[in-house]
Amino acid sequence: MSQSPKSYRPATKLVQGGVQRTHHGETAEALFLTSGYVYDSADQAEATFNGTVDHYQYSRFANPTLSMFEQRLCLIEGAEECRTTATGMAAVNAALLSHLKAGDRVVASRALFGSCHWIVSTLLPKFGITSVFVDGHDLAQWKAALSEPTNLVLLETPSNPMLDIVDLPAVAEMAHAAGAIVVVDNVFATPLLQQPLKMGADVVVYSCTKHIDGQGRVLGGAILSNRKWVNDVLQPFIRNTGPAMSAFNAWVLLKGIETLALRVNAGCRAAADIADFLAEQKGVTRVWYPMRDDHPQAALARKQMSAGGTVVTFEVAGGKDGAFKVMNAFGLIAVSNNLGDSKSLATHPATTTHMRIGADERAKLGITEGVIRISIGLEDPEDLKDDLAQALATLG
Ligand SMILES: *Cc1c(COP(=O)(O)O)cnc(C)c1O
Repeated sequence: MSQSPKSYRPATKLVQGGVQRTHHGETAEALFLTSGYVYDSADQAEATFNGTVDHYQYSRFANPTLSMFEQRLCLIEGAEECRTTATGMAAVNAALLSHLKAGDRVVASRALFGSCHWIVSTLLPKFGITSVFVDGHDLAQWKAALSEPTNLVLLETPSNPMLDIVDLPAVAEMAHAAGAIVVVDNVFATPLLQQPLKMGADVVVYSCTKHIDGQGRVLGGAILSNRKWVNDVLQPFIRNTGPAMSAFNAWVLLKGIETLALRVNAGCRAAADIADFLAEQKGVTRVWYPMRDDHPQAALARKQMSAGGTVVTFEVAGGKDGAFKVMNAFGLIAVSNNLGDSKSLATHPATTTHMRIGADERAKLGITEGVIRISIGLEDPEDLKDDLAQALATLG
């Protein structure tokens, strides 16, 4: 008997998972660039709509190229169901708005991606939903916030850009006791390094724009959970509000994800090496990397992740002037606000991605003016180190 796709190892799932060949027997996944579908008869259309026959209806609801990608993500994540969306933010928004209603309460870690923070702090309260932020690494704050009935917990671990770690099993247990579902934004870890569903999370969301595409081409989002929640809560929201991913983007992502393990494993090795290298450099005052011994939660990171990820954060002397001097001196490393690309990208969070949250909130998150975040790409790490060394030398 042949193996079940569920028993394949991750690298195999990334390449073979979810493939549905047409009668043409194509090797690569087919791109179904179609908005609608035709029926054999009016009877088949009726049977499709009343649910007695399984047939594609409209690409706002489902599309065969998207189905292949969603099936592949399910296999990697160990989830029952997946729905994909046009962007990562559409995924976060759909997961939250489909589940919540006026009068509900949300507890979130403070260190969220900027737009996720905006949804929780600004959008949800507009609809009568209370939101509370906690420092994600502080279990006492979670305990206090979850001592009241709560409907949803949203968190990111490791967080952007300071790579804070949240204790997933501990927070999930407190959240469930308070009546909340736990939604984890798993972008920084990727499904290869950390599987939140196995540690008590109920829903996992991704920006596929990052490592899943991994080559800086398309936007995309994904939501993974159990069958009941997806069918009863999420699917009606997606079907009727229309955040659907385009079939073309799903096809690009199907090809991108084939190399996810190769890229993420190489990126993690290079990032760990570069974090150690940076810690030795003059002008660097601090380095953050989840698996380094000097990370305040290194033990927790090792417990819930299999590697530290592809992002390294460090602080240079001289505040904003120092950081700008170093970034403007980079030759190979590009200045960008993106991450998870095959090209190495450097960000100054205080003046870009985390500008809008304001100085007080930045101080709470530890984002100083000298902090630089680097997303490590697929260049030779020695060339990246050469670039970092020559740029840091400009600090004098
Ligand atoms: C990029 C990102 C998002 C948003 O995804 P988009 O695809 O840009 O909409 C959400 N969360 C995290 C952690 C991200 O890095």
